[in-house]
Amino acid sequence: MTQKPFTANEINEMAVGLNRLARNLWWTWDQEAQDLFQELSQRGWRNLYHNAVAVLHEVSDYELRMRLQDRRFAQHVQFVLRNFDQYMRSTDTWGHTNAPELRERPVAYFSAEFGFHETLPIAAGGLGVLAGDHAKSASDLGIGFVGISLFYREGYFMQAINQENWQTEYYTLLHPKNLPIEPVLDPKGDPLICSVGIATSQVLFKAWRANVGRNPVYLLDTDLPENEQLYRDLTLHVYGGDTATRIMQEVVLGVGGVRLLRALGVQPSVYHMNEGHAAFLIFELIREKMAEGMTFANALAATREECLFTTHTPVEAGHDRFSNDLMHFTMHRLFRHIRTPAAELMGLGRIRPGDEHEPFCMTVLALKASRAANAVSALHGKVSRAMWHPLYPDRPVDEVPIGHITNGVHLPGWMKGTVRTFWKRKLGCDWEKGLNTPEFWTRVLDPEFISDEEIWAMRHKLKREMIEFSRRRLLLQGERLGPGDFIAFDHLLSVDALTIGFARRFATYKRAPLIFQQFERIVELVKDRARPIQFVFAGKAHPRDDEGKKLIQRIIHLSRFSELSGRLIFMSNYDIHVARQMVSGCDVWLNNPRRPLEASGTSGMKTCTHGCLNLSILDGWWREGYDGTNGFAIGDDSHPDSIEEQDRRDSENLFQVLTEEVIPCYYNRSANGIPRAWIQRIRRAMATLTPQFNTWRMVQEYTQKYYLRPAKQ
Ligand SMILES: *Cc1c(COP(=O)(O)O)cnc(C)c1O
Repeated sequence: MTQKPFTANEINEMAVGLNRLARNLWWTWDQEAQDLFQELSQRGWRNLYHNAVAVLHEVSDYELRMRLQDRRFAQHVQFVLRNFDQYMRSTDTWGHTNAPELRERPVAYFSAEFGFHETLPIAAGGLGVLAGDHAKSASDLGIGFVGISLFYREGYFMQAINQENWQTEYYTLLHPKNLPIEPVLDPKGDPLICSVGIATSQVLFKAWRANVGRNPVYLLDTDLPENEQLYRDLTLHVYGGDTATRIMQEVVLGVGGVRLLRALGVQPSVYHMNEGHAAFLIFELIREKMAEGMTFANALAATREECLFTTHTPVEAGHDRFSNDLMHFTMHRLFRHIRTPAAELMGLGRIRPGDEHEPFCMTVLALKASRAANAVSALHGKVSRAMWHPLYPDRPVDEVPIGHITNGVHLPGWMKGTVRTFWKRKLGCDWEKGLNTPEFWTRVLDPEFISDEEIWAMRHKLKREMIEFSRRRLLLQGERLGPGDFIAFDHLLSVDALTIGFARRFATYKRAPLIFQQFERIVELVKDRARPIQFVFAGKAHPRDDEGKKLIQRIIHLSRFSELSGRLIFMSNYDIHVARQMVSGCDVWLNNPRRPLEASGTSGMKTCTHGCLNLSILDGWWREGYDGTNGFAIGDDSHPDSIEEQDRRDSENLFQVLTEEVIPCYYNRSANGIPRAWIQRIRRAMATLTPQFNTWRMVQEYTQKYYLRPAKQ
């Protein structure tokens, strides 16, 4: 018997629903929603880089309505839309119960970058990905949250590799119409326009809203015809241009962000600065309060009560510093409106306020004008307290007021489809319930619940997916494998070999090529027929960081012209999509920064739900995460002062743990080919790391420690 076709109304509802769904980034962490868009256009989904909005543009309205006549597909659409609506309407959340005051007056979270998804490339690396994961978890938890950032019309650069194996950068224009963002309009339906004073100009900006589940993130955009070209291009690139561009971008972010919130009628209860880039918001908050009649001292004190600051790196270059001249040139309009001598305002950005030779530091400003500040791991807390001790000369270093909240990752956003399917088969439709709880993950320790064989089968599926992905990528990136050798790509890497992954920004302190310092010995390991190893690398260097580019060059050179060729690859254009493939498909995730410069590191946290094991220096999060059973440590809890000595010792230690622990453990197989001890480590990693290093735990901690004001006595 045939079923009655859907009515025009029903079809309409589904089509409208799909369009609404595409414009909420919720779909980036809901597998079933992604499946819908993929089913609409397989090729579009892949070629448009998993962009739901662009896929809906690719499919005509007519085609969509006809496709929805397919009952099975339509039921899937209705199922996802029901879930989405339930999510959006739910009042049964942690935030409703534990932080109702933030629902009235939200947290305003300022970040120069947000990494939500590969389709919206407005992040440069870990800081942005963390901000994106923070926003997603704030939504999941039902916390009142508003994000502020910039809309970079050409995003972060794309990486190409030239004939000399040298990184080159190119940009592509982002089209807002084709992205999961919407223009912010005024009550008349026109774009909402605000302005900030920069140097001698009044610079106008508009805004885009990214819907991140229940919460908005606003992206400020100066590309308006009324602005001079210089200012139109201010928001062109993530961290683009020179220091002059940088300071002006930061005025738009900090000062402009507060003005946008006011124009929207949002009265945040706290302003959370994710890194110092947004610290100029402090000046705007002071200006507002003084305009209402407060003295400077009172306005500063009141502003302090509203501000929180998270510092993200102990690397000096990671802290913005601006010369006096540049500050005065850029800020004089704003300073004029704060009826306070400029010298006093400048002092807020200096360790020695009266020292006119000291440049203005955004981190110092943020520290001086926040009621609380934190680092992003326990060790980083300690390092930061020592680093900023000069600001608090009359306290012992342990009492420098910088605490720590260790970073995390947003689990549903990072779990690969293959792993979600695995859990769904295991636990049924409701499988995601309790994903962030220890109870969910301790079950993994029970071989009655999951067998070694099941885990090992899943690992191989994930590894094959990653290897096939990388073969396709290398083909597309025009890798030269020899004369016309198309087939050669299908022989790159082997699913059977122990696969070591390394992907992150190519900052020099991260020492990407460290493992190749023992070159001859590594070649031997790679060529060992019984127990081979292989490497997958990826990462971008900052456009002006030639030292970082040299490291990339070195690795690509080895991948093409050394005995490692075919067993070492470099995938270009590292981004969230490449990261997701690698953290799931590799067996081992290598991290060997110069201790203690890795504030936290988050890519290693993304591996845990996929059964990839960390092999890392005891720095950042790994110093807290590693317990002797859930991965591998390089070296111990110490480091020599000399860089040369440290590099030498770490490369020795790395080689040692690789040959004495990692390789034997991986290749020690039971009669039916299962590495029992290795899988035991996978179980331990899932059970001990996943419930700890996720952003639900992290955002709850921010809420309880910092966002909520302690009750007045
Ligand atoms: C997670 C992630 C990072 C951060 O990785 P680290 O280990 O902190 O260096 C950087 N870039 C992308 C694309 C990521 O997904």
